[in-house]
Formats: sequence, structure tokens, C-alpha cells
Amino acid sequence: MKIVKTIIILFFFAGLVFSSEFTNQIKNYPAYWIGNQKYISLQTIIKALNIQSWGRIEDRIFLEYQGRVLKGSIGSSEFYVDDKMENLGSSIKQVEKEIFIPVEPFDRIISSITPAAVSTSSAQSSKQPSAVDQSSKQVIRESNLDRDFVIIIDPGHGGKDNGAVGNYGLKEKDVNLDISLRLKNYLVSQLKKVSNIKVKMTRENDIFISLDERVEIAKKEKADIFFCVHTNSSKLNRWNADGFETYYPSRKSEISFVPKPDIDESVEIETTGETVFQIVSDLNTTSVIEESRILAETVQEKLAERLICPDRGAKAANFYVLKYSPMISVLVEVGFICNPNIEANLRDPEVRQAISETLGKAIIQYLKSRQIIG
Ligand SMILES: [Zn+2]
Repeated sequence: MKIVKTIIILFFFAGLVFSSEFTNQIKNYPAYWIGNQKYISLQTIIKALNIQSWGRIEDRIFLEYQGRVLKGSIGSSEFYVDDKMENLGSSIKQVEKEIFIPVEPFDRIISSITPAAVSTSSAQSSKQPSAVDQSSKQVIRESNLDRDFVIIIDPGHGGKDNGAVGNYGLKEKDVNLDISLRLKNYLVSQLKKVSNIKVKMTRENDIFISLDERVEIAKKEKADIFFCVHTNSSKLNRWNADGFETYYPSRKSEISFVPKPDIDESVEIETTGETVFQIVSDLNTTSVIEESRILAETVQEKLAERLICPDRGAKAANFYVLKYSPMISVLVEVGFICNPNIEANLRDPEVRQAISETLGKAIIQYLKSRQIIG
């Protein structure tokens, strides 16, 4: 890429040049020269300003800071604070997967921002179509169901089964478990006013559970949603594979014999399944598959707003846990642990928390869209 060649990475202490509060906050982060303009990455801004809400849709980025919504676009120097346009002088750039913002104009804009009064900020935000998710601020009303609605979170792998392992030793089973526990906590806190929605897990510590045991747990708990959390790996493209994807069942079946316990969820069983597993009958579950697809697409939509990496889409697959679980079921692959950059990100508790909250928001959006909660 041409632009990459023109970048000189320069670690500098911005405090020596000028010293607003913002420059003090970013002085220990790297800055970059692109042409004759000094840039910092969006990730640095998010960390330095402790920004909790941000997102990206295609070329547009959104940040929520001091109750204000900041918006910009890659390739444009126009920058908006709420609806007031400011000019950055130089355009926002994307290099590889990172987004870069010109430091000094951004500092000037940030320094001039005063916190929005609470009432105005929520009114302004709710009027604007933006990627900043407002669902956590809305009151979630009591469930519309007169029975318990059970969500089971299934952290993939565990115990003797590490799942995929990153080049620097991070194990998929640990990432899956941590994200799942955070997801459970997030859902419980968001749904605490909804007494009949129960959030459970197939495992809450580092133990091995076979795939058929996972499905049995979901059946025994009478789960309405079976939500499997995994981390991806690619044999062919170990260093560069990137993106997130969510699977839903292509069909549902009952079985009369359980499979070997060490079967991997990533092995599609269509080719061998018919004889090996003695399928009794395909379940009449068109609507369950359709609901699973809608949930998978909602998960992808929310992750695409939050993560700066490729959206690989919602896909149908015959993974064991999807095919033999009779309820709505999805399996999300949150990122490629085999890619060293992603492995480093997945070690970061803040990244795991952000992923978990995004998955939680997707589930809540799904529950609202099906009028399960108000
Ligand atoms: Zn896995």
C-alpha cells in the first residue's frame, strides 16, 4: 500500500510541544506522521479519553464524549460535535485496519467541548440516527411472557480441550469463558427488572464438557436460546485471518446415538452424519431456524458497529451444537486468535468487555424485536 510507505512511526512526547489536558493524556502513546501532519490512532483516543461508547459503520466513525456525539468519516476532514461541523484541516485516514485522526485539530476540538447537560444530551442523542447504542440507557420493561425464558451461554471448549491456541499461547477456551462470564453479567445487570428471563451457562470454569453434554444441558434447562461463544482460527491464513462471524443451524435433527465426545464444533457433520449418528428424523423446526438466523444477523449487525474488523456475515452451518439443539441456537466466532494482532487484543480485558457488551446488546435487541421484553 502506497500510504504505508509514507508513514514514519515516531514516538514523541506531545507535552513538550503543547500541553492541553488531552495531550497530557496521550503523551505516552505513539503518534504517527502521515505527510506533514501528526496523527494518533482512534484506539489511542478511545483509551486516553476512556470512551465507553463508540462505533463504526463503513467509513463513518462515532464517539460519545462528555455526553456529545462526535462523528467523522474516513477520507474527510469534516468533523461533527453533535451537529456542529468543525474542520480538522487534514482528513481522517485508514491505514491497514487502523483509523488515524490528526492530533492538533482534534485536540483543539476536544478541548473546547464542555459536558452536555444530562437532559439535553439524552434528548440530542435519541433524535440522531447514530451507531452509538442507546439500549443500555433505556428502561427494559417486564417480560411479556408468563413463563421463564431461558438463555444458555455456552463457552466453547474447556478443560483438556484448549480449542484454538494463538501464536503467543493464548487459549481459546479461556477467551470464550471470560467473554461468556462477562456476557452473563451484562445480561443479568441489564435484565434485572425482568424477573422471568434466566441467564445460565453450560460451564462457569475450566472444565471439559462434550458437545452432546452441552446440548443435553440446554435441553434439560429448557433453554429458549442456546448461545455458543467461540474464537476462530485459520490453518491456511494463520497470520492475517481477521473478522467475526455468526453461525445458525442449516437444519435441526434428533439423534439416537451420541457422537464421539471429542468431535470438534468446527467439523461439519453433513457428510458423515447420516449413517454415523443414526438420525431419526429432521425436526419440524423451520421457525426455530429462521429465528436463529435473525439472532445471528443481529449479532453480526451489532459487532459490525463496534469492532473495527471485517464482517464475515451470518452463515448457516451444521455444527453439532446447532444441529442437535432443538431451540434457537447461534455460534459466534468473535475473532481470529491465530492472528497475532487479534490475539493481543483478545488478551485485553477492555476488549473482552466490549465484545461481551456488544453480544449482550444484540441479544437484548433480538428480545425486543420479538417483543419478549418491552
Ligand atoms: Zn471453538
